[in-house]
Amino acid sequence: MEKPEKLLIDGKRLDGRAPDELRPLKIKAGVLERADGSAYVELGNNKVFAAVYGPREMHPRHDQQPDSAVLRCRYSMAPFSVEDRKRPGPDRRSMEISKVTREALEPVLFLELYPRSVIDVFIEVLQADAGTRTAGINAAAVALADAGVPMRDLVSSVAVGKIDGTIILDLMKEEDQFGTTDMPVAIIPRKKVVTLLQMDGHFTKEEFKQALDLAFKGCEKIYEVQRQALKEKYAIKEGE
Ligand code: ADP
Repeated sequence: MEKPEKLLIDGKRLDGRAPDELRPLKIKAGVLERADGSAYVELGNNKVFAAVYGPREMHPRHDQQPDSAVLRCRYSMAPFSVEDRKRPGPDRRSMEISKVTREALEPVLFLELYPRSVIDVFIEVLQADAGTRTAGINAAAVALADAGVPMRDLVSSVAVGKIDGTIILDLMKEEDQFGTTDMPVAIIPRKKVVTLLQMDGHFTKEEFKQALDLAFKGCEKIYEVQRQALKEKYAIKEGE
């Protein structure tokens, strides 16, 4: 990908968005028959599935926790999901994203209700265009709810960043690659608790505040779409 001369032209981004605008977002709950819960998320050009299995007995048994369930997350990117084919299999990046995804989701789960059990979350990225960890977390939260796992709330996630000196919401690939800063955030919307915050690049203190505020606003919109997806799946259709 060649570096564009500017990422912001007359206040508009390369795809025509305003700085505080999300990419088009679609979420569908319950899309995979053989998973206990599942969701599909399209965020701009990202296409991500999440599948949940469990709670079920943990094997191998020596990984069991006597007083709580274990949440296992596996983020994986398909070889055909990026411009240059990605080598299949786990790598440092996917292991890191799996770990931060688990940490982002754990606080909303009542893991203590399921001793010696495991809840598996598989995130499969079929098409990547920056922000896949945030799309994966949004999908996983809906898939966990779809599986009927007791939750305090959903988790909503979006990245914020800086391009040409301007704070922006929901970076796409060019902005991720050539912008100055990328800060993925996940929150528990009703409690306004941050469960993921990473940063690649720099913000001044003021910029950080502005960016975090923008991330909260973006997550509110995502939260609405997540809830709508669950409502659509579980709505009692007329005549049923
Ligand atoms: P995120 O997808 O959460 O933004 P990164 O910032 O690490 O995570 O990656 C940004 C984007 O870079 C990805 O969404 C994907 O489009 C691209 N990318 C990541 N890993 C690879 C890879 N191994 N090969 C090609 N492109 C990649």
